[in-house]
Amino acid sequence: MSFCTAVNCMDGRVQLPVIRYLQDRFNVLYVDSITEPGPNLVLAKHTDEDLVQSVLKRINISVDKHSSVGIALVGHNDCAGNPASRDEQEQHLISGIQFLDLQYPNIPIIGLWVDENLEVHEIENNNSFV
Ligand SMILES: [Zn+2]
Repeated sequence: MSFCTAVNCMDGRVQLPVIRYLQDRFNVLYVDSITEPGPNLVLAKHTDEDLVQSVLKRINISVDKHSSVGIALVGHNDCAGNPASRDEQEQHLISGIQFLDLQYPNIPIIGLWVDENLEVHEIENNNSFV
């Protein structure tokens, strides 16, 4: 069994595109899903520290119990939880990845943008690739 981890929005439109992208990207069978509205905003701005800790607790399960080989943080078009522009959301992805890299420095972490056509674009990573 092989796993990676998606820190994705709860939005139903982006689930399958992200899962399919990550199965190929990390060559895994399974994608553990951690969903919140606008998770890139949550991890970039830390406006709700309890929620940040909850997300980390769930990532830890995926990393420790499933030996996750990679983590993706996701932003998407028309997000109810993060209504910022694509440019701002990409900054949130970069900040969120920097935060996650401090917690998981040895795991590849990538940022994904899902556009209005539900196409997935990889826009950033933490350079922890071997
Ligand atoms: Zn969303």
